[in-house]
Amino acid sequence: MRYLPLPLSAHRSAWGVETAGVERQCRGAAADAPCRFCGAFAAGRQEVFHLDGDHMNHAPANLAAACSLCHLAQHLDVAARQRSVVLAWLPEVSQAAVFMLTRSAHLALLDADADPTLQVPPARGTDATVAAWRALKALLGREEQAKARLKTSDPGVLGAALLALTSGAYRGRANLLGSIRLVPTGRMLVSGEDIYPRLLRAWAGRAEPKAPGPLPAPTPAAPRRAA
Ligand SMILES: [Zn+2]
Ligand SMILES: [Zn+2]
Repeated sequence: MRYLPLPLSAHRSAWGVETAGVERQCRGAAADAPCRFCGAFAAGRQEVFHLDGDHMNHAPANLAAACSLCHLAQHLDVAARQRSVVLAWLPEVSQAAVFMLTRSAHLALLDADADPTLQVPPARGTDATVAAWRALKALLGREEQAKARLKTSDPGVLGAALLALTSGAYRGRANLLGSIRLVPTGRMLVSGEDIYPRLLRAWAGRAEPKAPGPLPAPTPAAPRRAA
């Protein structure tokens, strides 16, 4: 499958609409289809991506399944509210590759009970966690270069600037933005809750860890037989 291009976008019809979650999620078979932009599967969590950016255009040809990260390229205000990505200057990696790379690095950290947001260094420095940590640090280290070019690394500020462009300038935004990418931060705050670890497990095809339920009722002792 050839992946579709993923330019950073902003469209009036998509701006400030909602946070994230069910209303954006695909239904039926599309919810299990691979992301058309990076190939990720998401265990029924794929979202509806409007190819022309117009979120009022629900023609089937305008809709594609996207993972929650790729969909953020069209919802920079949502990304800012979730604090889920920062802007970084990365000419050597495509946006889809950044998402693929960070996803596997975050998963390696999550598997080692380490912090995907890099606030707390991993307690156990295995080869996998050290490699994941270094890769994420290197990608996030390019945030400064985005700031130097755009005076911000906030996706919401960039989205607002894209909305203010004339239609001609907007069409040429790939040239304006050059190699500005979204780099995931390892969190996705929705209504105060970080949903990112759950998403990571869905991407990895893992089941949710079971929440500790009520203790099982004690089985009644078998009546003693009279000897
Ligand atoms: Zn994707
Ligand atoms: Zn959308």
